[in-house]
Amino acid sequence: MQYQGVLTKMQTEYGNPIQYYLVFEDNFINMNQILNQEIEISFVGYQCLNCSKKKKIFRQGFCYDCFYSSAAVGDWIMRPELSTAHLGVADRDLVYEQKVQLQPHIVYLALSSEVKVGVTRKSQVPTRWIDQGANEAISIVEVPNRYLAGITEVALKSHYADKTNWRKMLTNDIAPADLIAERMKLEMIIPAEAREYFILDKNDLYKMDYPVAQYPLKVKSLSLDKTPSFKGKLMGVKGQYLLFEDGTVFNVRGSEGYVVRITV
Ligand SMILES: [Zn+2]
Repeated sequence: MQYQGVLTKMQTEYGNPIQYYLVFEDNFINMNQILNQEIEISFVGYQCLNCSKKKKIFRQGFCYDCFYSSAAVGDWIMRPELSTAHLGVADRDLVYEQKVQLQPHIVYLALSSEVKVGVTRKSQVPTRWIDQGANEAISIVEVPNRYLAGITEVALKSHYADKTNWRKMLTNDIAPADLIAERMKLEMIIPAEAREYFILDKNDLYKMDYPVAQYPLKVKSLSLDKTPSFKGKLMGVKGQYLLFEDGTVFNVRGSEGYVVRITV
């Protein structure tokens, strides 16, 4: 069976285990159903997720021009504390920014390699945690806009990592932690403006069950720019990565905007 189309991050369904779908324009692959099978991924070209032109992808699925002009990739995406829509101040497009920033946001602790802190829109729970490959996650505050989430995250960053060590995440080399106990220690670290939103007693610990038959001991990352065609036996999916038997890992999200042919 052959599929061809532009890569976008895999769609997921929370469950035991999590279900992963690679969705193309006319069809899709449920990745869980092709575990333990040989698949081939071949590079065909580029297609910007914003303008659809066949231009080289610069970052996050966007070509260079779109990356520096689209409201969807402003600095406040990666640094929520820079959000200004709650003040009525635009970065690139106030209408878009109001829509995205002025909605409930969560600051969370996730166990993905070490315990890390992060921010997500409430509507992205638990998708965001699955995409990161977190084994467990818990909400700390639920606030009405992205700015409040951002300043809370900044305050917590001095106590926790804010990035995942992807090699440890993919080899499942995770130091155990008690996220409920961690959360109880945090109330006084949360900035005063956000403290009223602190979630103390709620049984809302999420545990993620990834479809992985066998974790690799060492990983090497597949880049379609360097290796335009790769064939291997798919042993699992975690985060937005495909894990192959020989230790090769492929970051689907990191390859958004690449047009590929997949042979199963
Ligand atoms: Zn573009």
